Amino acid sequence: MNGMPPSSPPLLQVEGLCKDYPAGASLLGARAVLRAVDGVSFTLARGETLGLVGESGSGKSTVARCVMQLERPTGGRVLLNGRDLVGMSQSALRPLRKVMQIIFQDPYSSLNPRMTVGRFVADPIMIHEGKIPREALMQRVRALFAKVGLDARHLGRYPHEFSGGQRQRVCIARALAMSPQLIVADEPITALDVSIQAQIINLLQQLQDEQGLAYLFISHDLGMVRHICHRVAVMLRGLIVETGPAEAIFHDARHPYTQALLSATLEADPARERSKARLFFDAAQLDGRASGFMKEVTPGHFVREYGHAR
Ligand code: ADP
Ligand code: MG
Repeated sequence: MNGMPPSSPPLLQVEGLCKDYPAGASLLGARAVLRAVDGVSFTLARGETLGLVGESGSGKSTVARCVMQLERPTGGRVLLNGRDLVGMSQSALRPLRKVMQIIFQDPYSSLNPRMTVGRFVADPIMIHEGKIPREALMQRVRALFAKVGLDARHLGRYPHEFSGGQRQRVCIARALAMSPQLIVADEPITALDVSIQAQIINLLQQLQDEQGLAYLFISHDLGMVRHICHRVAVMLRGLIVETGPAEAIFHDARHPYTQALLSATLEADPARERSKARLFFDAAQLDGRASGFMKEVTPGHFVREYGHAR
């Protein structure tokens, strides 16, 4: 693909990623830590979409920030095109930031209310390329607006003049400015009206087809990733508990937590929705058990097997 030799490394390879946060004081003054991400591993190929799914607090955003090196991991490796980003200096990371971009749930908070959206989209170009002629810059910004379905005549407007869906388009345009290979999308449609969600999904898919972009697409809702992901990884309490091709996750889920998430997604068909049994998963049943290992149940489909209670 892309003229690369077949032996070229995957676009993104995450190995044993861990992130600890201080969790207040504990007995005898020892520092307690919360392990928000506990040995997460996955790969992402060029042009592929991996859905990272799990309930709130399972560690998805922490994975996103650690992949982007917005936060430094406690342990593990994050290889982008074969180069480990963990431990790299900010100046060594800077050129690599063109390759990977992030978009967030709330486009409004990503935008600067006092900056025109055109300036906001132009910003990364000015940062990475220094001074370029104004007309050339404007031409690139107009092309980016067109690419995400925004009217280039509106590039002098401010964020509050746009709807939520349009603001997310502005953020996507900025993310595309340096022609990235990877976009980490952390709940990019969660805050949008349901009617707008599909439009943004379609846009992301169209951009992937055109530019071979890869997405790490994060959502707390399996239903949202259904139409966009090639593969899915399900996270629970900082661990991946099931991962595999989307087909396997949606039709042959094995982990009780994945099954519960699936039963919570709305069926498009109201008759099926009514007849569906809602499954619940109580994570407390895993308390005290060793986190075990990932067992391959069908090719590429892995499910966590737990050790005996300690
Ligand atoms: P998700 O995105 O899946 O909702 P997060 O990655 O935001 O989950 O959070 C995972 C866990 O890490 C949660 O228990 C959260 O409270 C904790 N956490 C996240 N960020 C911080 C931080 N900066 N400091 C302390 N704890 C954090
Ligand atoms: Mg999050």
